[in-house]
Formats: sequence, structure tokens, C-alpha cells
Amino acid sequence: MSHPFSLRNKVGIVTGLANEDSIALGCAQALHEQGAEMLVTYASASDEPKVLPLAEAMGYPELLPCDVQDDTQLDALFDRARERWGRIDFVVHSIAFAPLEDLHGRVVDSSREGFKLAMDVSCHSFLRMARRAEPLMTEGGTLLCMTYHGSQRVVDNYGLMGPVKAALESAMRYLAAELGPQGIRVHAVSAGPIRTRAASSLEAFDELLEKSEARSPLGRLASIEDVGNAVVYLTSPAGAATTGTLLYIDGGDQIQY
Ligand code: NAD
Repeated sequence: MSHPFSLRNKVGIVTGLANEDSIALGCAQALHEQGAEMLVTYASASDEPKVLPLAEAMGYPELLPCDVQDDTQLDALFDRARERWGRIDFVVHSIAFAPLEDLHGRVVDSSREGFKLAMDVSCHSFLRMARRAEPLMTEGGTLLCMTYHGSQRVVDNYGLMGPVKAALESAMRYLAAELGPQGIRVHAVSAGPIRTRAASSLEAFDELLEKSEARSPLGRLASIEDVGNAVVYLTSPAGAATTGTLLYIDGGDQIQY
């Protein structure tokens, strides 16, 4: 009998690799360590110098560019998975974007275009991936996205991303309900603050890190490895009875909020 956390013979896609700090790297590494094989995507050719040297740590997955605003690239990604394996078991969505002028202003002042763009890249792209994954998840599967507690509570400087992540979490629950009968499980991992490229666009991010560490009962921040291990649990047979979960990996920060 294989171990309940083993991902041997599991194949899938991890998106959103930007550099060595990316949550996507923590996920790809942990999935690889449990035996999974995967395609890993980055947004554009300009990320290649940071991304290509990370291949070894992830067990040399196939690396592909994929801008989620480009349907042709999304199609090519899932076509490649079909060509290689004929099916997939998991997709990790680890992507977010908001224009700085909207992110740094008040939510009430956010521009229609900025809001639409943030929603498209950070939320609707998860639906576009799910739609493409569904016919490939012939043996069931797991769809995962990354969120932050600024969706549920007003967090200073999280601004526009708060409503966007709230929409993502809600979309996750609807997907879980719609795809559950096919054995497709859908989850959101709510990570505490981690110093990454995306996080560096938030104002006063250092303060957020300090407050989170001080507030959390465990007195520590989450790492990309912690998030990766949570992703392994949700993806593996150990998570077989779970779907529609919002799983906090934050040192307990959120219970003290
Ligand atoms: P990151 O900058 O390493 O990753 C964000 C990724 O989004 C990058 O790879 C970037 O290229 C990608 N992206 C942006 N626009 C894209 C597009 N049009 N097409 C394809 N990819 C695009 O930062 P991260 O912190 O690892 O972010 C990953 C996820 O984790 C995001 O959803 C983020 O909101 C979430 N998250 C981060 C934190 C944190 O504190 N860092 C906390 C909770 C949740």
C-alpha cells in the first residue's frame, strides 16, 4: 500500500513561478519530493533568467511560459499536459496582479480598468484553468489557489486585492460544488505574509510581516515550504475527503485578528 501522502504517478501543473521566493517554488518542490511530475509555468520570457536556474530544485520539470491573459498560451499549456500524460491530477494557481496605482489607492477610488485587470489575472484565470483541467481530470483531481486573509478582514494596505481574493475564495467554493461529483476537489490555501515579488508591491509590507509574526500564537511566519506541504496534503490521497476548504497556513495569525 502506498503512503497516503505519496504523489507517486500523480501529474499536473504548477503556475506562477517568478523567482526563488515564489510560493509556486515551495509548491513545486514539495510536490516533486512526494513523487509528482509537473509542468511549471512563468509569466513571460523576461522571467527566464530567474526561473531556469530553479529547475534542479523542482526535479527538472518542463518549464513553460504562460501569461494567463493569453488564451492561446493557456490552451498550449493544457494541450502539452494532454500530449504528455493524457490526463492530469492537479493544478496549482499561484498568480496575482493589480496595477500599482489601484493597489496603492483607496478601494473606493479604484479604476474600472484596474479592478477588471486584477480580477481577470488573479481570479477569473483560476476558472479558465479549471475549465481546461476538467476534461483532463479523468481520475478526479485537485485544483488549488492561493489567497490571503485580507479577503475576510480589512488589512491595512491590502486594498484592492481584498475584494479580488474574496471573489477567488467564493469562486473556489462554487467550483468545489460544481466539480465535486466528478471527484475534482477544489481548495484555497490562505498563506500568512511571505516576502515575495508580489508582496513587495504592497505598501508597508515589512510592518505586515512584523504584526503577523507578533500576533500569531505560534510566534512565527509561514514559509513557502509550509505552503508546499499543505498543498501536498490537499493533493494527496490523505486529502481525499476534503473539498471547498480555506486552509490557513499562517502560524494561527487569523484567529487572533
Ligand atoms: P510571486 O511574485 O512569486 O508570484 C506571483 C506570480 O504571479 C508571478 O510568478 C507572476 O509572474 C504571476 N503573474 C502575474 N501576472 C500574470 C499573468 N498575467 N499571467 C501569468 N502569471 C502572472 O509572489 P507570491 O507571493 O508567490 O504569489 C503567489 C500567490 O500567492 C498569489 O496569488 C498571491 O496573492 C498569493 N499569496 C501571497 C502571499 C504573500 O504574502 N506573499 C500571501 C498569501 C497569498
